[in-house]
Amino acid sequence: MRSIYVFLFSFIILIGSYNAYSQIIMVNLPPTVILSGNNISLEDDETISLDSLMSLSSLGIIDASLIPAAQLYNYVWDNEYVNPYRQRVVEIPDTVVIDFSQYCHPNKNVVTSDFGYRRGRFHYGVDTRLQTGDSICSSFDGMVRIVQRGRAYGNYIVIRHFNGLETVYAHLSKHLVQVNQIVRAGEIIGLGGNTGRSTGPHLHYEIRYLGQPVAPRNFIDFENYTAIYRIVDLNAEHFAYVKELEQVRYYTVRRGDTLSGISRKFGVSIDRICQLNNIKRNSVLRIGQRLRYT
Ligand SMILES: [Zn+2]
Repeated sequence: MRSIYVFLFSFIILIGSYNAYSQIIMVNLPPTVILSGNNISLEDDETISLDSLMSLSSLGIIDASLIPAAQLYNYVWDNEYVNPYRQRVVEIPDTVVIDFSQYCHPNKNVVTSDFGYRRGRFHYGVDTRLQTGDSICSSFDGMVRIVQRGRAYGNYIVIRHFNGLETVYAHLSKHLVQVNQIVRAGEIIGLGGNTGRSTGPHLHYEIRYLGQPVAPRNFIDFENYTAIYRIVDLNAEHFAYVKELEQVRYYTVRRGDTLSGISRKFGVSIDRICQLNNIKRNSVLRIGQRLRYT
């Protein structure tokens, strides 16, 4: 047994030396594994996978049970990708009860853009106006999963919460937390800003479940900055938009295209194309214009 400890310990040192940040990790973590400082204890002869060791070492974690909703997320804990879960919406259970009683509004300000379609793209969050430097707080207790700078999100933070949700806070001017840090509901995690793909200081805020965004307005009163319900039943309806989204198809207009030609090409009526794109039958098509046809 002792030789196993020595092996595991040397392995952690090895991994820790070149893997400062974890990648996508699937761990099968026996509940009896506890890493505390340099001590590893396995209560019985359960084997621990290579991946779980990588995860634990990069986390510097003391006890795997610290990861919020670890079992729900199949022990995937990733410090890079917002959605590393590849979970299909159909796999999401019928109804899930989520505790919203802790809810704390991240930025008490006016909504400037909602969840849903926006200029032909789907917007997965809610934007609120702010002034650069305004404090942004965590919506619930949780553990910081990602602290990154992205091309679109700018400086952003992703937090996994104990209630099973994850939240995303983007376009920040400053991060005030570190990866794998435990945060409390209402704790200031960063300062608002205008980084990434942003035209003016605002917070882009997302609520996700198993990696899939849900419309925050289902649960949050953005006028009063409070949760609408203390307990929320999350169900298939909240993810219905994904099925619609999967059906959406676009065609890029080329030289010589006409509405009637496009209508024939895809077997969709001109009226339907007009309705989907909010244009008129006599609207002039531009080359390169994206037209939705389903
Ligand atoms: Zn946004």
